Amino acid sequence: MKENTWNTYTDEDLEMMDALIQGYKFFLDNGKTERECVRQMIGAAKQYGYVSMEDVIRGGHILRHGSKVYAQTKGKAVMFINIGLFPVEEGLNILGAHIDSPRLDLKQNPLYEDTELAYMDTHYYGGIKKYQWVTLPLALHGTIVKKDGSHVEINIGEDENDPVFGVTDLLVHLSAKQLDKKGAVVVEGENLDILVGSRPLKDSDTKDKVKANILKLLKEKYDIEEEDFISGEIEVVPAGKSRDFGLDRSMIMGYGQDDRVCAYTSLMAMLSVDEVMRTSVAVFVDKEEIGSVGASSMGSRFFENTIAEVLQAMGKLNNITLRRTLANSKMISSDVNAAYDPAYASVFEKNNTAYFGHGVVFNKYTGARGKAGSNDAGAEYVARIRRIMDEDKVAYQMAEMGKVDAGGGNTIAWIPAAYDMDVIDCGVPVLSMHAPWEVTSKADIYEAEKCYETFLKTKDWI
Ligand code: MN
Ligand code: MN
Repeated sequence: MKENTWNTYTDEDLEMMDALIQGYKFFLDNGKTERECVRQMIGAAKQYGYVSMEDVIRGGHILRHGSKVYAQTKGKAVMFINIGLFPVEEGLNILGAHIDSPRLDLKQNPLYEDTELAYMDTHYYGGIKKYQWVTLPLALHGTIVKKDGSHVEINIGEDENDPVFGVTDLLVHLSAKQLDKKGAVVVEGENLDILVGSRPLKDSDTKDKVKANILKLLKEKYDIEEEDFISGEIEVVPAGKSRDFGLDRSMIMGYGQDDRVCAYTSLMAMLSVDEVMRTSVAVFVDKEEIGSVGASSMGSRFFENTIAEVLQAMGKLNNITLRRTLANSKMISSDVNAAYDPAYASVFEKNNTAYFGHGVVFNKYTGARGKAGSNDAGAEYVARIRRIMDEDKVAYQMAEMGKVDAGGGNTIAWIPAAYDMDVIDCGVPVLSMHAPWEVTSKADIYEAEKCYETFLKTKDWI
């Protein structure tokens, strides 16, 4: 095992780390949905001179070395492009992270009353241990689009004066049967409904008076009807802010760090590296947690279409240039990996595991059951990565998620790799991944940002 990264830090490192972490916590606290992340990212990039690709197209502007543009789709995925000096068909340096996180989504007909209690029905999103989502303060974040096209933004539960919501759990006194169940069904998906009210509407002759009262409040505060939930995207997420974790404050506890920790550090690297030789790209996508399918996911044409638009605005678009640009690109799929957890040592293989405080973690491959579903980065590419990371003194480790046949998982890496570009997974190790409150090491976050900067600055990949 290499040296613990904390031992190598100067006071200057620690100061820079503090500044990065402060920004990161703000990003987490204000980015609990894809849409909130996209809005924050575009806001930050504008301050660094990024202009909208839509404006470039509409104005017939030409992109050249030094041009900085962004494109977004559906409000849920966004790309930033910084045009380099070298011919674009020599390839791009691409960072790609996802900004969706596991959560509970409100169903389209969510509201019901049972025994004078009002609930909202949910359908969980992504891989969760359902029993972790009960008896926690939860917040509602999202957007309702009314029939006239107007948007109503919902954000309830984050302000300390806001109410919160939650899923109840059975009292231990009556849990004899429940506690005999397997973990996967101790709490069942259909039972992850959030309690939202218990007070009946006074002097009403409707049947469900508690529900009627909730609808009245929603009408007063947001001017929405019950039917408007049909075209809503409301995410139920842990309420509250990210916090320093540990007596030594060496860690962060926060919701959605998979994969917003890599998204934030990728964005910071993108904005810090001003002048580039190879055109640099940072792409932030939705729907990774459900398999990167559908619009706004890495599996959609958003990425390729945007690169085509950029080539068009450079006066370089044709079929072969687009293909060469993509095939000659190098990519880091910036996504998190499991951190070694001594409490669950049996699922890890100690020589190929990511340790807290040992820096950013590369995965040559991911996958499950014999690397299935993985992108396996080529040895030549991995060798080059080793060299540039060592040259820039980035602390990194090479790991797998866990023991062979213990389980596994995938990232977006295999999707851009289909263009025949080199892609490698690289991100921050996480404890309690996919739990409502995940834990990361500040040192690893700091190293991730350095790693991504080094990657974007890389001029030649030979
Ligand atoms: Mn992830
Ligand atoms: Mn995940």
